[in-house]
Amino acid sequence: MDTDVDDTCKAGGEGEKGKPIVVLLVGAPGSGKSTFCDQVIRSSARPWVRICQDTINNGQSGTKVQCLKNAARALKEGKSVFIDRCNLEREQRADFMRLGALQVEMHAVVLDLPAKLCISRSVKRTGHEGNLQGGKAAAVVNSMLRKKELPKLSEGFSRILFCQNESDVQAALDTYIGLGALDTLPHGCFGQKNPDAKVQLGIMKFLKKVDVPSNARSNASRGQDSAPPEATEVKNPICEGRGNVSSLSDTAGEEGKISEDLVVDSVNQNSSLNDVPTLAFPSISTSDFQFNHEKASDIIIEIVEEFLHKLGNARLVLVDLTHGSKILSLVRAKAAQKNINPKNFFTFVGDITRLHSGGGLHCNVIANAANWRLKPGGGGVNAAIFSAAGPALEVATKEQAKSLSPGNAVVVPLSSASPLYSSEGVTHVIHVLGPNMNPNRPNCLDGDYVKGCKILRMAYTSLFEGFLSIVRSQEKLPKGSIEKIGSKSSVLLGHSEDAPKIFSLKSDQKIKRDGVYEHERWKKCKGSLNEVGSDINVSRAGKVNANNDNTGSGGSNSKVWGSWAQALYNIAMHPEKHKDDLLEITDDFIVLTDLYPKAKKHILVLARYDGLDHLADVSKEHLQLLKMMHAMGLKWAEKFLLEDASLVFRLGYHSVPSMRQLHLHVISQDFDSKHLKNKKHWNTFTTAFFRDSVDVIEEINNHGKATLMDEESVLLMELRCHRCRSAHPNIPRLKSHITNCRAPFPANLLQNGRLVLAPSNT
Ligand code: AMP
Repeated sequence: MDTDVDDTCKAGGEGEKGKPIVVLLVGAPGSGKSTFCDQVIRSSARPWVRICQDTINNGQSGTKVQCLKNAARALKEGKSVFIDRCNLEREQRADFMRLGALQVEMHAVVLDLPAKLCISRSVKRTGHEGNLQGGKAAAVVNSMLRKKELPKLSEGFSRILFCQNESDVQAALDTYIGLGALDTLPHGCFGQKNPDAKVQLGIMKFLKKVDVPSNARSNASRGQDSAPPEATEVKNPICEGRGNVSSLSDTAGEEGKISEDLVVDSVNQNSSLNDVPTLAFPSISTSDFQFNHEKASDIIIEIVEEFLHKLGNARLVLVDLTHGSKILSLVRAKAAQKNINPKNFFTFVGDITRLHSGGGLHCNVIANAANWRLKPGGGGVNAAIFSAAGPALEVATKEQAKSLSPGNAVVVPLSSASPLYSSEGVTHVIHVLGPNMNPNRPNCLDGDYVKGCKILRMAYTSLFEGFLSIVRSQEKLPKGSIEKIGSKSSVLLGHSEDAPKIFSLKSDQKIKRDGVYEHERWKKCKGSLNEVGSDINVSRAGKVNANNDNTGSGGSNSKVWGSWAQALYNIAMHPEKHKDDLLEITDDFIVLTDLYPKAKKHILVLARYDGLDHLADVSKEHLQLLKMMHAMGLKWAEKFLLEDASLVFRLGYHSVPSMRQLHLHVISQDFDSKHLKNKKHWNTFTTAFFRDSVDVIEEINNHGKATLMDEESVLLMELRCHRCRSAHPNIPRLKSHITNCRAPFPANLLQNGRLVLAPSNT
């Protein structure tokens, strides 16, 4: 394709080395945009992210604003981005062109394939997530193509590549697949043969052959829920998360301008999905273990049906890496025949280790098609999950079981140190071992499908039971899981009678809900707290040079601090000068009210150790110090709870603090304060940027360092209620919402003692 350069169109020189690229795909439904992205992402050495409006909202259709935000986030992380929507009109592209301001290359790849081909593909497909299929697809594609405006360099693109047939598409694929992380492509227009082409001849003739329902356009405009199934379509179609054609909202001539209200409404509608317990699982045994797909799909449907009514609103998602997956299409068709509710069970095309970051789908539990040794490696999903989870998974797995026999599953809690936990929100991995029909693998059943089907049923039953036990333990947490810290206050913990069982679950066994796992976690934390008071091996302020320069004085991660950021440091070094303003002074700590409290009660526990400027300076040698700070914070929270039992506290650190000198925030969760004024204030206390003290202690203990989130991400994140997770357009609207919101706190906060509240309130 690159040989096909139109020199007259060429503008500019070589792209700058190392810049991320935004590629706007431009093409009608059925032109192959999603397939194009998938093929590049799968084979390219450059990190790519596909942004698709159909799935941007936790696997559901979202808004252009969400696409823009996710794209900006990926670009900041140095990834290149595909914008997978039709983008046929200049106005639709205009908002995405603003991404060019982020110092990136803006490319367009135009899949300008014959209308007949796009229509034929759209009409024939089934299971399209936007329900743009069957007869009505023809009318919609035709209508969109009539408005087509081919992209021009003057819109802000540095490179535009036109593909008008399959071989052009293949050449474009080769170009982008071969593009290494530091490679660049020449600027200009390439491959355009007929710039004025709009709707190709013959389209009307073709349209006559298909049955175009009169309501097609209006159904499409209303979105997937309102489009009634066509007679030729599968009833109650299962959503496919990364369906191979672009969004229906796009199809319906979606908004050119961004309305904040629209964003909020749309986010609110689906915001609860972030908190819906979701298990993502690969098809067991059908890949390397060569189990028959027809039989396997029957079993998946059978066991899914059996479990769905037990799971309440929790979701099961069958995941496969490829669009053309046979097992996925079999399961989709059979689920549709059985009228299984697509809200509770659906299929998703994507990498199971990147469902949230790569596909916008939040799954708190993922299943692994494991090997009997429960070890990494071997390729496929097992290798991918162990590699994405890091060493934390291997260690945690070893603690639970040494091996697994076919038909069994083992639930493994992931520590917050695992990247799967921190970036994808996965709290548990369930390893499952299915039956093997591959003579080259252990325990081959030599084609005995009587036994094989029995084992596969057992495997799915064990898997779903494991997930059910996690769901149930989370449902029970707010009411029943309280342990005492000290004598007066109580901490909500993630252990309950229904906590997940961690050893292998035989499908024919009743699950023992003995709370072993969470209880052990709790004991670990409580044990640490009991050690408070033992020797500290960090030098105290009085014994160390209390200099007042504006750099970290010995912290390993020294950072330049402005003079305004030294106030806490100065207090820690010279408390005697401030003693009237301080709540408590000990040899090790100072407790003071935050000068700009962001809630009814907001205090700081300040370490008096020179050289400990922030969390990045903390290592294993500071473990006791952290535990002492935690105990001090709890003591004060407990005191406040005696005065006002309705308060709820969180204790934690900012990943990147604004003020020098390690300090623990003890903050009530009402956030009722005139000082809470902007997004930064809100998001630094209510997102993963706020590192709970208990987690920091656990991470330092296990890994010697805490996971920290960068500052930039804070501003990119939406304003969401810390309780119900609904999104809000601005601080006043958020504040008026939180004044009345009484939703339970999200499940992750109800675990591990992250929330502190009065005994009477538990
Ligand atoms: P961080 O972003 O974690 O560094 O938070 C620093 C906190 O210190 C903020 O909540 C500020 O409101 C608070 N703060 C700033 N200056 C002072 C001060 N002189 N005395 C007490 N608190 C302060």
